[in-house]
Amino acid sequence: MYKIKYIGDPILRKKSADVDTFDDKFNTFLEEMTEIMYREDGIGLAAPQIGVSKNVVILDVGELVEDESLRIFINPKILSASGSSVIEEGCLSIPGVREEVTRPEIIELEFQDETGASYTHEFDGWLARVLQHEIDHLNGILFVDHISPVKRQLLINKKTIPEKY
Ligand SMILES: [Zn+2]
Repeated sequence: MYKIKYIGDPILRKKSADVDTFDDKFNTFLEEMTEIMYREDGIGLAAPQIGVSKNVVILDVGELVEDESLRIFINPKILSASGSSVIEEGCLSIPGVREEVTRPEIIELEFQDETGASYTHEFDGWLARVLQHEIDHLNGILFVDHISPVKRQLLINKKTIPEKY
């Protein structure tokens, strides 16, 4: 019943709200969100991408990092960031576009798990990269916002992304 929202959909520009109820209904939502991520072959998914303006991020970088599997981040907040790296990104909401994006390499993150328990943890590498991409979604930011205006205009000219997004 949830469907992937694509670039141009205004929900992708909305700021999401924190989750404050960790009940069975919420857990069912997490299960459905996880199914969609795997079905769509994504390595990360933020709730707004399926039309739900809540601060929920899931990811699984298992195909890129050994011993990684599903991770769930509720109400994630980046406390600090350092370093810099350039990595090519894609997004389930922006099919057919892959562009290099510069972001901090290491982040310190405060978040809750699916039961509501709180953690603060440092992430680097692929985890830090995917987390930053997905947390951007919670703030209504898309990865094409981070590329150069010239590259962005080329994507619009080729109609790969809409003029108003
Ligand atoms: Zn994305």
